[in-house]
Amino acid sequence: MILIVDDRPENIFSLRSILELHSFPVDTASSGEEALKKTLKQKYALIILDVQMPGMDGFEVAEILSGNSNTKDIPIIFLSAVSTEKKFITKGYNSGAIDYIIKPIDPDILLLKVKTFMRLYEQNRELNLMQENLRSEIEFRKKTEQQIQEKAQELHGILEAIPQIAFTATSTGLIDFVNDNWYLYSDSITKFIENHPDDLPVKEQWNEVILSGEALETVVRICRLSDKKYHYHLLTVIPVKENGTIVKWVGTFTDINEQKLAVKRKDEFLTIASHELKTPLTSIKAYVQLLDAITPAQNDKKPYVDRTLLQVNKLDSLINDLLDISRIESGKLKFDVRETDFDTVTERTLEMLQQIYRGVSIRRDGTAGGIKVLANEMRLEQVLINFISNAVKYTPAAKAVDVITRIQPDGKLYFAIKDYGIGIPEKDRESIFNKFFRVSDAESTPQGLGIGLYICSEILRRHNADFGVESELGKGSTFWFTLPVFKQ
Ligand code: ADP
Repeated sequence: MILIVDDRPENIFSLRSILELHSFPVDTASSGEEALKKTLKQKYALIILDVQMPGMDGFEVAEILSGNSNTKDIPIIFLSAVSTEKKFITKGYNSGAIDYIIKPIDPDILLLKVKTFMRLYEQNRELNLMQENLRSEIEFRKKTEQQIQEKAQELHGILEAIPQIAFTATSTGLIDFVNDNWYLYSDSITKFIENHPDDLPVKEQWNEVILSGEALETVVRICRLSDKKYHYHLLTVIPVKENGTIVKWVGTFTDINEQKLAVKRKDEFLTIASHELKTPLTSIKAYVQLLDAITPAQNDKKPYVDRTLLQVNKLDSLINDLLDISRIESGKLKFDVRETDFDTVTERTLEMLQQIYRGVSIRRDGTAGGIKVLANEMRLEQVLINFISNAVKYTPAAKAVDVITRIQPDGKLYFAIKDYGIGIPEKDRESIFNKFFRVSDAESTPQGLGIGLYICSEILRRHNADFGVESELGKGSTFWFTLPVFKQ
């Protein structure tokens, strides 16, 4: 908007007409005082100011405008008929004008000047706006930086107080803080704590974490400087994100040496105990089997022999499971795989199980159609037995178990045992294949050690199988695995 200030209405009229004809929005004031009042309420892009006015003249108005921060940047063109002398023109410029036009006005020249000043004003305004934005951006960054620094200090305070080894790193993985405990295992912030030469180097894992952006949790053995002994630690590294971007990494090493050693002692005890039990049990089993063979069916002692054999077999399979666990732990669970007809193994196992679970109907749904897999028959059988025994065990008064076999569209063999039993709570499904895991609602579940599924998972892993469980609480569970088909 352009403000025309002139005490003579005819001057205002002619100026206004010229400007409006060229689509410039125009406002007018008939005195210096009125012009000042208007500039308080409205922002003008240009003021065309008459010099000779009664009361406050144009020079005074210009001086006041240039002294006010809100109006100092408005360009002013002075119009004068009489003050054409150099000293008046100089005065005009000194009081804040950017141009001076002598009457009578040449409309073309006036328009050219107005257009130029308007454009300049616009550019100036944009520049100011950009500057303003830049200033607030800088302010914002400074503030955020300060906040981050405060937060980092707070975090470092906490990390100093905890018993773990703790460190933080920049988003690119450069360690920028370590707590005092760090120095028990490394002599410098720039030297990452080293781990046992037999384990995957922590430094490598750390680099991978930074690249992937994923959190890490791993057990490592790290060497304490004071006694040069390796101690088990749980290394946890998590990314700290702001607006979805990683701004920092926080890591801790928690000493789990005692727990690890206790578990090791327990595992050793289990191994020794099961080995010690296995030898006498093998003799007992042999004698009971002999007794069973020589006791005629009609002998009134036969039921006792049968029951003894049943319990001995149970004990035998329990000890075998415990031995398997210690073999898995020591990496000694070894078995060969060879080309195996899947249906043959299934049929044989189901027949045997049907003899044991006489009241339960073990129903087959589909076959593998003679497909061969690379498997260890005995171990595969062990998985089937475990899945089916569990299906019966965790179904009160079980009547039926479904054995599903399919060939998947991807060509893999799908095998599943579906029961109609108690089901597994969702929170427990993920841990169900873990060692010694049992569903927490122990009251309502039959007794067990929680090792069968762990052994199955290990066997299946060695067969390159995928496996899992689907379940609905109170309705039943489906334990499944898929196996690659053997092709010659
Ligand atoms: P165990 O049966 O000796 O406890 P497993 O490793 O075979 O050990 O099973 C682990 C746990 O998984 C069981 O304690 C039980 O809570 C749960 N589970 C296994 N199979 C089933 C099933 N078919 N239905 C419901 N729960 C099951």
